[in-house]
Amino acid sequence: MITTQSNITPVKEANELKTRTSSFMVNNSNSNAGVSDKGIQSSASSLDSLRLREQAESRRSASWSLLVSALSSSNDPRDRKEADILMSCRGYVSKVTTPEGKSTIRSFARSCNHRFCSYCEKRRREETKARLVAASKLLVTRYDPGKYMYMWVTLTLDPNHPSVPRDTRDKLTFLRKQGTRYLARKQVNDLVLGSYCKIETGGKNNNSDHHHIHMLAVCDSAIHQSTVDTLERNWNYGHSKVKVWKVAEETNEASLEMSKPTLSRYLGKVALSPLEVSEEKLRRTVAAYRGRRVTWSTGVIKEALQEVSKMSYDDILEGETIPTRDQDPEPVEPTNCDKLPDGNYTPLMLLRHINSNSRYSRYAMYLLNYYDWSLRETRRVRIQERLDSIQESISIKYTQ
Ligand SMILES: [Zn+2]
Repeated sequence: MITTQSNITPVKEANELKTRTSSFMVNNSNSNAGVSDKGIQSSASSLDSLRLREQAESRRSASWSLLVSALSSSNDPRDRKEADILMSCRGYVSKVTTPEGKSTIRSFARSCNHRFCSYCEKRRREETKARLVAASKLLVTRYDPGKYMYMWVTLTLDPNHPSVPRDTRDKLTFLRKQGTRYLARKQVNDLVLGSYCKIETGGKNNNSDHHHIHMLAVCDSAIHQSTVDTLERNWNYGHSKVKVWKVAEETNEASLEMSKPTLSRYLGKVALSPLEVSEEKLRRTVAAYRGRRVTWSTGVIKEALQEVSKMSYDDILEGETIPTRDQDPEPVEPTNCDKLPDGNYTPLMLLRHINSNSRYSRYAMYLLNYYDWSLRETRRVRIQERLDSIQESISIKYTQ
């Protein structure tokens, strides 16, 4: 039994939110960046990946801050409540010195799981992607891509169309409703066996919010041109774009596209140029999405997703490897280096020390390694518990 679980207990507060330390918090390819048993590797690629990680963390941090600032300064109590939820999201290493002079560290991670949280986005995206990839695999066993058309459809709203509302929330409502109606139209309904739909908002223009639908569809047809024509002709409120989705080669790409965050363009841009997106616009968009389901599925894709949801993430994940505890021992505090003062350190703070070669960089690397290690440790504990419960049910079966 692994006993270090106490090291990674989440922060306790009144109104504590549910902790979701999913397996996806561990990114095997990146979390080991620059890390070996002995400490920092100095290869160019690991330094590059530490720099890339710092850039990604700083984008996430900038997006998160802007959203929190927009929502917490709002007059609407619902906005301020959402700001509180976002502010409960955290991941850091805490370093303290005991009265005896020993330094101890602990690691904390908690996901707020807010729809627009840029820290939670990565995990949410990976979860959605894994589900869609697994569902696609099920589908092709039943609907041979040689006989059925798999399509990738985009439906936009023309802001000048007389039926399209001006107000952003009304526009989103309209799009959602027309998306459902589109699928119910006879010609489309006869053709589409199942779909996965998602509303996204682009932020190219600060005045008109570019809400649009992305849709994956399985069509009961083997004729390309007539399928494209039917799907395009039946959308009346803006542009429609239809592309063949080559399931064998493009499933990953399609799933990634469909799992992108709803506000990707807004919040992605924010990090580059905060002035491009006003707080007013962010509040308006958050309000437009409030209480709304913006992803939905129908028919055979819905059925496939339901089957996938019965599987655990561990089962639908492919290729995720996590080293055993023996292969991945707890990092050891380095000696003969400048230690960071007591306090809480986020991965971004640590990456800045490391990449700027500050006098604390070696110690910062140790704390970062510890943070990543503790996430893997959480995952190991979770897997072990799951194996134990399977073992238990097997022994019950055989003793009965
Ligand atoms: Zn979060």
